[in-house]
Amino acid sequence: MKSAAFDYVRAGSVAEAIARLAADPFGTKLLAGGQSLLPALNLRLSAPALLVDIARLPELAGITLTGTTLRIGAGCTHASLLTAPEIARHAPLIAEALAHVAHPAIRSRGTLGGSLANADPAAELPAVMLALDATMIIEGPSGTRHIKATDFFTGMFETALAADEILIALEIPIRTQRSGFAELARRHGDYAIIGLAATMTADATRLAFFAGGPTAQLAQRAAGALGTGPLNHERIAAACTALAQDLPAHDDPEASASMRLHLARVLLRRVITPWINPSIRTPITA
Ligand SMILES: Cc1cc2nc3c(=O)[nH]c(=O)nc-3n(C[C@H](O)[C@H](O)[C@H](O)COP(=O)(O)OP(=O)(O)OC[C@H]3O[C@@H](n4cnc5c(N)ncnc54)[C@H](O)[C@@H]3O)c2cc1C
Repeated sequence: MKSAAFDYVRAGSVAEAIARLAADPFGTKLLAGGQSLLPALNLRLSAPALLVDIARLPELAGITLTGTTLRIGAGCTHASLLTAPEIARHAPLIAEALAHVAHPAIRSRGTLGGSLANADPAAELPAVMLALDATMIIEGPSGTRHIKATDFFTGMFETALAADEILIALEIPIRTQRSGFAELARRHGDYAIIGLAATMTADATRLAFFAGGPTAQLAQRAAGALGTGPLNHERIAAACTALAQDLPAHDDPEASASMRLHLARVLLRRVITPWINPSIRTPITA
């Protein structure tokens, strides 16, 4: 199938892109890497009158570290983040997860902002942003908004972005922490059946599951059962039990709810158990 006809314009600035969106919010779509949008257009799931290309905007590019905050431009491609030294040093969880996202051709065009704005429930990056306690920087006709990742993903393919807003960047607090990632997919590069991005800081553990419901979500009860003191196998077992209260009973053709819960527990043990041994702790410092 081919997409419906549309007009195309390359925006020269974020301000221009916002003005284009504001002129016709529901007939205009931003085009970043196109790796989710173009298939949707070709399947006629969406038929905008105008595509505004934001792929080359310098305002959406770059990674900067200011104090203990890492800012990543929404336009950074998956491939660039996989090899960025700032990511390897300060937020290796992002690169670890991106190695599971699709394949090199898709990663060379797909962007961080596109993946987060698309909010696919089975996508890796929304869960990573929940685990890293990221804040989204959003611009629209009324100015700039900062939204925590926990408030950004509102449902299946739904976010807190208004139709005339652009995700500009995200900010991650850099703390000494451990992080880990695991997913189960039928083949490497496929969307996951269930996945987990996890971090541990001095005062909190964040367990972000994806592909387990309509949106990536933090498993609060399981994290509470892990506690903040020294980890041991009993606490991990308690977290696995508590997980049943966190994950929605989500059946789909890939897996039944009970199978998914079982697999989520497998991932939880796989990611957290190595953290029992402090000698393999990987500090991430600013
Ligand atoms: C075969 C295939 C396999 C894939 N496998 C995976 C996978 O395993 N895991 C995974 O996570 N993803 C996967 N993807 C999706 C891929 O990661 C996409 O790159 C990503 O989801 C969207 O990024 P994009 O830059 O291509 O966005 P686009 O497709 O250009 O845009 C997606 C949506 O986001 C909006 N948007 C884009 N940028 C912004 C912004 N800055 N502000 C506001 N709105 C914006 C667009 O208007 C559009 O609605 C796969 C894609 C394909 C084609």
